[in-house]
Amino acid sequence: MKRDNPDLSSAHPRSALAGLFDLTGKVAIVTGCNTGLGAAMAIALAAAGCDIVGGNRSEAAATSARVEAAGRRFVDVRADLSTLEPIERLVTGAVEAFGRVDILVNNAGLIRRCDALDFTEADWDAVIDVNLKSVFFLSQAVARQMLGQGSGGKIVNVASMLSFQGGIRVPSYTASKSGVLGLTRLLANEWAGRDINVNAIAPGYMETDNTAPLREDTQRSGEIVKRIPAGRWGVPEDLAGAVVFLASRASDYVHGHTLAVDGGWLAR
Ligand code: NAD
Repeated sequence: MKRDNPDLSSAHPRSALAGLFDLTGKVAIVTGCNTGLGAAMAIALAAAGCDIVGGNRSEAAATSARVEAAGRRFVDVRADLSTLEPIERLVTGAVEAFGRVDILVNNAGLIRRCDALDFTEADWDAVIDVNLKSVFFLSQAVARQMLGQGSGGKIVNVASMLSFQGGIRVPSYTASKSGVLGLTRLLANEWAGRDINVNAIAPGYMETDNTAPLREDTQRSGEIVKRIPAGRWGVPEDLAGAVVFLASRASDYVHGHTLAVDGGWLAR
């Protein structure tokens, strides 16, 4: 299972090290990349050399333009991940376009806010179906493809601070993201020995549509910033280094880890 390691004692250790993060020729599926964190991660992977397959409910024109500006190709597969219907289409779309899948970023997700006492079954199912159920079955479909290719792969799930903490008024979201952390470990246990790395990124409080209502509440937003050691909300580009690391050879011996990119929030 051991892969070729770079020779860091060579005459060019810096380029050997940079090679660890090089994704030239790799193919990545990124779900929900028409906006927010998914867009930033797709653009970062393209900058590192990947062609991108976007799994989106609606057109991802801005992301596509940025990926192509980086000299890479972008294929959009229309995918509403509230059901399992698009799962196989995403994998076959990637294989038809680029011949393979090397990386999966399970980013698509949503949140519903309401007191636990009033929380509805519809708000429970809507969140669990996208944030947890589709994450598992897309990972399964992609892992089958990767095993068929015989050259390993990288799966990066998107967890949350609420993979570690309880949160408030977001019961299905907390359940889903706590589930993502556990699933990341389970899949790593099953697939690490088969050259597939499964890890997760847990973003802290990031400026995206997802958190717009929270940021509009100036009192709550102020309390949050005060508690972040870095003293600011994160921006989507803050995830670039983490996603390239977890998608690249640099993380070949990292399995089942959930990496917080949170300005120090969890350290408090
Ligand atoms: P966002 O609302 O900007 O993006 C969410 C993405 O998921 C969009 O592309 C949306 O179209 C997609 N999506 C939602 N439902 C879908 C469905 N049924 N089918 C296909 N795609 C669907 O929010 P974001 O902050 O960029 O969120 C991205 C991920 O990061 C989510 O999993 C979210 O839970 C997670 N996250 C965000 C934060 C934050 O502070 N913004 C923190 C922790 C985790």
